Amino acid sequence: MADYYDVLGVGRNATQAEIKKAYRKKSRELHPDNPNGGSTEKYQEVNNAYEVLSNPDKRKMYDMGGEDALRGGATYSPGFEGFQDIFNTFFGGGNTRRGPASRARRGQDTLVAVHLSLDEVVFGAEKTINHEAVVECPHCHGQMAEPGTEPVPCTNCDGTGSVQQVTQSLFGQVMSQTVCGRCQGYGTIIVTPCGECSGEGRIRASQPVTIKVPAGVDDGMRIRLQGRGDAGLAGGPAGDLFAQVQIEPDPVFTRSGDDLLCTLQVPMTAAALGTTLEIDTFDGEQTISLDPGTQAGHVETLRGLGVGRLHRGGRGDLKVQVQVVTPTKLDARQRELLEQFAHERGEETGELVDSSQSVFGRIWDRLSGR
Ligand SMILES: [Zn+2]
Ligand SMILES: [Zn+2]
Repeated sequence: MADYYDVLGVGRNATQAEIKKAYRKKSRELHPDNPNGGSTEKYQEVNNAYEVLSNPDKRKMYDMGGEDALRGGATYSPGFEGFQDIFNTFFGGGNTRRGPASRARRGQDTLVAVHLSLDEVVFGAEKTINHEAVVECPHCHGQMAEPGTEPVPCTNCDGTGSVQQVTQSLFGQVMSQTVCGRCQGYGTIIVTPCGECSGEGRIRASQPVTIKVPAGVDDGMRIRLQGRGDAGLAGGPAGDLFAQVQIEPDPVFTRSGDDLLCTLQVPMTAAALGTTLEIDTFDGEQTISLDPGTQAGHVETLRGLGVGRLHRGGRGDLKVQVQVVTPTKLDARQRELLEQFAHERGEETGELVDSSQSVFGRIWDRLSGR
C-alpha cells in the first residue's frame, strides 16, 4: 500500500492546512472526470489518504504503525465513533480483514540537533552525539514476552482477533465483526510480560550516534539517518533519525553563501605606506599584501579558502575587507608630525565631490527619488 504522505505529496510533519491544500490539488488533478491524468483508482487512493491524515486520531495511529496500521484499506463503518472508530482504523475495520493483527509496528522518526562550528561547515565533519533513543529491549528482543514464554492463543476469539456480533435492526439481524476486546485484535495474549521492559518491547537508552555532515550545509538542514530512529515493535522496522543542523556563530568569520567574510583593521599609516601581514584563517596562516595607498573598504580575495560547496564540489572564496583605523589619542609630538604632513600636502580641509560619483550620493539619489 502506498504511503499516505507520499500519496498527498506532503512531508510527515505537514500541518492540517498543508494536508488540506495538497488534497484539494491532488483530487482536482486525479478526478476521474479529468481527461488529463484522471484516474478512479488514484482518486480513491488520495481520498483514503486524506480521510486518515485529516483526522488527528487516525493520523496518529497511522504514524505509529506506518503502512501496517491500516492494512486492508481505509474502510470505516459509519456510526462507530471515538475509541471503536480508532480501533477499526487500526485493525482494518469492517469485514475487509481476516485473521489476527500483527504486533509489528514501525518505530517513530526522531529529530536531534547537531551543533556545528563554522569551520566544521567549511570542511564537513563527523560528529558523534549522545542521543536518548527508544531501543529494542535487549532482554526480550522486542517480543514483549519474557524469554522462554510464548503468547497463548486468545480463547475469546479463538486466535482470530475478531468476534462476530449479531444485533437487531429495523431490517432484521445484522452480523458485524468487531475487534476482540480481550486480546485487542492480536489473537494472542502475552501472559508473562518481559520483566525488563514491562512488556513494552522497547526501552529508552542513551546511545551514541555518529553523523557525517558534508561541507557546505545550511542552518536548519536535516540529515536523514535511515533506520536510526526509534526501534520498531515486535520486529517492525525502525524509524529514521533526522539530525537538524545548527551552526554556531564565529567571532571572526561570517558566511555569505559559499564565501567567508572577515574584516581586517589596519592603521592609517600602514594603509598609506603599504604592508604585508599574516592572518589566521581556517586553513592556517595566510599572507596578505596591501599596496601603498590602500583605501578603506578595499577587499582582498583569497580564492578557494571559503566554504566547501555542498553540491558542486570545490570551495568558495575568503574575502577580507580592509578597515582603515584613524589614529586617536595623539601626543604633542605625533600631533605636530601629522600637522606638518598635512600642511606639506595641503590637506587641512575636506572637499565636497559630485554626489553622483560616491556611494553615499547614489543612496541619496534613491531616497530623494532622482
Ligand atoms: Zn523486554
Ligand atoms: Zn481475542
